[in-house]
Amino acid sequence: MSILFREIIYGPVHSRRLGVSLGINLLPLNGKLCSFNCIYCECGWNEDNRVDRPRFNSREDVRDTLKAKLQEMRKEGPLPDVITFAGNGEPTLHPEFEGIIDDTIALRDEFAPNAKISVLSNATQLHREEVCRALAKVDNNILKLDSAINDTAKAIDLPRGEYDTEHIIEQMQRFKGQMTLQTMFLRGNHAGEIIDNTTELEIEAWLTAVRRISPRDVMVYSIDRATPCQELEKVSREELESIAERVRALGFTCSVA
Ligand code: SF4
Repeated sequence: MSILFREIIYGPVHSRRLGVSLGINLLPLNGKLCSFNCIYCECGWNEDNRVDRPRFNSREDVRDTLKAKLQEMRKEGPLPDVITFAGNGEPTLHPEFEGIIDDTIALRDEFAPNAKISVLSNATQLHREEVCRALAKVDNNILKLDSAINDTAKAIDLPRGEYDTEHIIEQMQRFKGQMTLQTMFLRGNHAGEIIDNTTELEIEAWLTAVRRISPRDVMVYSIDRATPCQELEKVSREELESIAERVRALGFTCSVA
């Protein structure tokens, strides 16, 4: 079963890892909009959640709703520890993404100055200068790279249009370490193809990419909820830990989510 966010601001969710977390959804409230169609997406397949005339939530609506929520939280407590852009698809597709980030930073500074702003992005919009500028302003710029081998990345993420891991890695290098690299590890079958980004060949290529990107930290994880592709296998925590150890051996911080 897919999970769609029906509001612009959702939460707060309390978690041990993140503390009090408030989510922001810039995407349509009645469907999904993404430049990927990941076989593991918790929002489901793009095709199953398509809306006829997708509408981004307007910059004004996002600002006003966030302001009201932060005012309420300041009055009733607790304030958020983190404000995260995620939701029903890819947040950087929003045409006013940079302006929304600027508004969010201003509201955070006014109402919840200790909160960190995070963006979870699939990195497909890094060719747009304004998106890179906006991502450089947030506290946690979290970018996805599910494989350093192009065919595997395409089989896992099912990008719409051109996608080239080499190009994505080069664009990530431009952040000069001001980013978190996030990778989903899984095994399974999709459309008659065996998919496994945990083979030695995959891990070697991915570790080379980690070295080249040189991120501030790395986050590895596996499937946690129902996935649209039914034939996927979760990678065990022990296996994720051993991948994380190899990242740490290169001198990078790596967490297992
Ligand atoms: S990038 Fe995120 S929202 Fe888009 S399909 Fe993949 S998991 Fe879903």
